[in-house]
Amino acid sequence: MFLDRFFNLLAGEIDQVLVLPVLYHFGWMEWEELSFDWALVCVYGLFAVIVTYAVCWPLEYFAPVERWPSKKAVAVDMFYTVVSRVGVLPVVNFLLFYQIQVFFSGLLVDNGFIPPTLETLLPFLFGHPVLTFLVYALILDFADYWRHRLSHNFRAWYALHAVHHAQRQMSFWSDDRNHLLDDVISFLWFAAIGLAIGIPPLQFPLLILLLRFMESLSHANVRLSFGKIGERLLVSPRFHRLHHALRAAGRVSCNYGAVFPYWDMLFGTADFSELYLPTGDARAPEAMATGSYLAQQWSGLKHFGAALGRKRAS
Ligand SMILES: [Zn+2]
Ligand SMILES: [Zn+2]
Repeated sequence: MFLDRFFNLLAGEIDQVLVLPVLYHFGWMEWEELSFDWALVCVYGLFAVIVTYAVCWPLEYFAPVERWPSKKAVAVDMFYTVVSRVGVLPVVNFLLFYQIQVFFSGLLVDNGFIPPTLETLLPFLFGHPVLTFLVYALILDFADYWRHRLSHNFRAWYALHAVHHAQRQMSFWSDDRNHLLDDVISFLWFAAIGLAIGIPPLQFPLLILLLRFMESLSHANVRLSFGKIGERLLVSPRFHRLHHALRAAGRVSCNYGAVFPYWDMLFGTADFSELYLPTGDARAPEAMATGSYLAQQWSGLKHFGAALGRKRAS
């Protein structure tokens, strides 16, 4: 495929010009055989940000839910996106996942077991890569539904997740606005699932990027619903905005799904009302809503510390 060749070419250049010289300089030669893959992970991330921008910016420009006089709070969300998708986090994620998978597979083989893959668990998937990909996506999204729903149920966990909800100027940049500790929990959560169903390391970030494009779109400040049927197939900006809506009396949390709404429909948490409400968390401190990146992270950590020891959020 043309795009694949282009990505490989670009990753090759970045590897030669940037990654390898740094590795040689610091004497980290043991990482050499992985350096191309790191570059490829960054290229995927950059591509995802460009595609997200190209799709979401016109939508937000022509059909916004809200117009803001100042977009200062959005600038911090942009920083989150770059760090999470192109910068440090995907490389760390990839490296860690790779290391854990090598260790885990080695352990299984040493004990006479074959490392699991989805195709060995569900043999009918053999020879159907697109179907396999879809099943992976469904499994990861199901896991994400429960990760997200649980993060609203535990006071300490929600103290971290509140960083995501504090934003009152929600836009397609807001998806990556998460506390670092919350990112670590997500990584461990997905790594465990990835190991159990055997996602190959490079398929893992690509899959996550694809799912996360849908997540960026669902945060966009745009009056967009996918219609009566479409709304029940994929999570739309309308659907996810209701999850971020400021809590008014009598309103319960809804719409936890990230990419597919099926789990909300199945477990009774879906709300398909055609409402576009203001977003935010009235209980979040101002530092978490409009502070700098560090101020938000610090505020999340402080609340996390304070909440530890108490059990469930109301
Ligand atoms: Zn949430
Ligand atoms: Zn969200």
